[in-house]
Amino acid sequence: MTGIDDLPVRDELRGKSPYGAPQLDVPVRLNTNENPYALPEPLVERIVERVREAARNLNRYPDRDAVELRTELAKYLTKTGKHAVGVQNVWAANGSNEVIQQLLQTFGGPGRTAIGFEPSYSMHGLISRGTGTGWISGPRNEDFTIDLAAAEQAIAENKPDVVFITTPNNPTGNAVPPETVLALYEAAQAAKPSMVVVDEAYIEFSHGDSLLPLLEGRPNLVVSRTMSKAFGAAGLRLGYLAADPAVVDAVQLVRLPYHLSAVTQATALAALEHTDTLLGYVEQLKTERDRLVLELRAIGFDVTESDANFVQFGRFDGENGSHTAWQKILDRGVLVRDNGVPGWLRVSAGTPAENDAFLDAVRELKKEQS
Ligand code: PMP
Repeated sequence: MTGIDDLPVRDELRGKSPYGAPQLDVPVRLNTNENPYALPEPLVERIVERVREAARNLNRYPDRDAVELRTELAKYLTKTGKHAVGVQNVWAANGSNEVIQQLLQTFGGPGRTAIGFEPSYSMHGLISRGTGTGWISGPRNEDFTIDLAAAEQAIAENKPDVVFITTPNNPTGNAVPPETVLALYEAAQAAKPSMVVVDEAYIEFSHGDSLLPLLEGRPNLVVSRTMSKAFGAAGLRLGYLAADPAVVDAVQLVRLPYHLSAVTQATALAALEHTDTLLGYVEQLKTERDRLVLELRAIGFDVTESDANFVQFGRFDGENGSHTAWQKILDRGVLVRDNGVPGWLRVSAGTPAENDAFLDAVRELKKEQS
């Protein structure tokens, strides 16, 4: 049988694995930080209406610049982000993964490097590899906060072209203080200057504010966002960024023409009409997230402070400790995530009933262990 490595694939792809969170059919799935609430029926109806309208024009290419959608996204950011942005500051693509890919195609690429502070979102490294950008794994403290001095040093030494800062961070859940982001931006400008991408995929779940106001006067800063989490629309595939208009112009050099289908644009516009309802679910999830933190601690687990819709808990000692625990939780019908952070697992906040099922499973696990 022919394997990948028998093909003339690029050297840097040899022996590598694709991104692969398990998609298992189990009763309680709390492993990919999805929103557990299905879209409300009035929104489903509105999507059908908007898509029906779009379908009548599917013989034509979609609006290549997605102007209406970007205008509505800009309004959403202005309303919630304490910073006014316009259509010229916003760009959208198929999930924030594609936004990140376009940024790396524009500012990274062969002969260039990107840095992230790990553990963090694994796709930053994978998309770097996919775009031929060298990946540098920057440090973090034991408690998963960013070690500012070490991070500044890593930037000064490596002079990366792109710096990723994920806040709230995935998989650990903690937010990065704005002062740290500012200091890293300054370090990146002094070293190169380089682009700093603040990945705010989970910002709507945070106790703190978005870093959008930092965009003022910082043309090398980008804030990336997604409708996959707070908007409960992971299946839609819609991500976006806010930045200086020059960045929006620059990514258009690499985007495929008509990358956002008319169906995607119509669906996203319908979802944006229901922002208030969807953000109501976010409030419920924040309450559930805080409950998970408290209950996990009460059971006796260590828990990393969370500003996201998921919680990192541990510790599971011994070789393969976290993977063994992951399997035992799965045996009880609950799928959580083993992100490969030794000793720790991650659980996404689900509905109250799903979270109860998870807490029952880990309570039993703890009893077994003691
Ligand atoms: N950034 C972070 C930090 C994430 O955790 C995720 C999804 N897991 C993404 C970006 C990508 O999200 P999407 O492509 O669905 O917008």
